[in-house]
Amino acid sequence: MIRIEHLSKKFGDLVVLKDINTEIKRGEIVSIIGPSGTGKSTLLRCLNLLDYPSGGSIYIDGVNILDKKADVAKIRQKMNMVFQSFNLFSHLSVMENLTIAPIRLRGMSKEAARTKALELLRLVGLAEKAENYPEELSGGQQQRVAIARCLAMEPEIILFDEPTSALDPTMVREVLSVIRRLAREGITMAIVTHEMDFARDVSNRVLYMDEGLIFEEGTPDEIFENPQKDKTRAFINRTLSFTWRILSPDYDLYAMNAEIEAFCEKQILPKKTRYNLLLLIEELLQIYAPYLGKMILDMTIAYSEKSRRLDLICESTGEKANPLDSHGLTDDLGFTIIKNLTESIDYQWHNGKNRLEFQVKNLSHEE
Ligand code: ADP
Ligand code: MG
Repeated sequence: MIRIEHLSKKFGDLVVLKDINTEIKRGEIVSIIGPSGTGKSTLLRCLNLLDYPSGGSIYIDGVNILDKKADVAKIRQKMNMVFQSFNLFSHLSVMENLTIAPIRLRGMSKEAARTKALELLRLVGLAEKAENYPEELSGGQQQRVAIARCLAMEPEIILFDEPTSALDPTMVREVLSVIRRLAREGITMAIVTHEMDFARDVSNRVLYMDEGLIFEEGTPDEIFENPQKDKTRAFINRTLSFTWRILSPDYDLYAMNAEIEAFCEKQILPKKTRYNLLLLIEELLQIYAPYLGKMILDMTIAYSEKSRRLDLICESTGEKANPLDSHGLTDDLGFTIIKNLTESIDYQWHNGKNRLEFQVKNLSHEE
């Protein structure tokens, strides 16, 4: 259905896409993953001609859309895009958002456009909101409206550009469920996403983009379980972390909590998991409190996207002793709370520091 050959895109001197070659077959669901800034959005925008490619060819049903004679309006009709930031018309109702393009661009009658819109709103679970305005809806609902609006143009392929990354974790799931449903109906889709679990189970093929290329491509199993190239492997298995150092009892608790929240938000951790983590830190800080200022305490939060494992690692200087044991905590209420918030607790004497590693209970969106 779509064949991309030697596609390149430059912005001035910046070469974003070097040489992209791939194919998307009808009915296929292709996920595009990779570090940010590697041109994933640019690739989708080039397919849709929102950005004009610098070189190469894009064939849709055998027609090169970069050909001067190609009918751009007709090509855009075949493809429609869902953006990270919804891009709904804020001054129009949900119903009007869905009907305006079919009426104006496709000459549909108002009646037919409304009937179709209602059907699509039902599909995404929002028929009740037809007469509301976008600002009256949650982010997740707005994105589902955006998906319905996209479907209203009856595209042959939908391009999704990180459709859930502007959403609160609780809303990610409702949007992914809608996309899953479309996948089952056999609509051709290309999805740029950071949701690894989702990419793994929804797609037929995964493209890993890096260095302006499709660096590696394969089935979800091939890419996630057995990537062939080091860079792909590093991306798939990467752990994201940040460390907060506490040197005195007068550390800035609020700034620390805000940074932790920001980190969790960025990794799209569910609310419950964030709550577990903050509660765990609060409990631990009570244990460490008498010693703050007499030692250096490093708190590291590490998150693996692939396994969804969240660890809190506390490293403290001083005599070799498990900070949990040394306070006779085993029967303590604080310790019970800590145990309830974690999957496992591991103590080690490591590089001259007392290292406690907690695996925080993490409920994924799918549970
Ligand atoms: P990704 O979606 O993978 O994060 P993008 O496609 O958004 O990456 O961007 C790739 C690179 O191209 C980035 O360095 C970005 O700054 C640059 N870029 C994207 N759009 C433009 C533009 N319109 N003008 C100049 N540079 C751009
Ligand atoms: Mg992007």
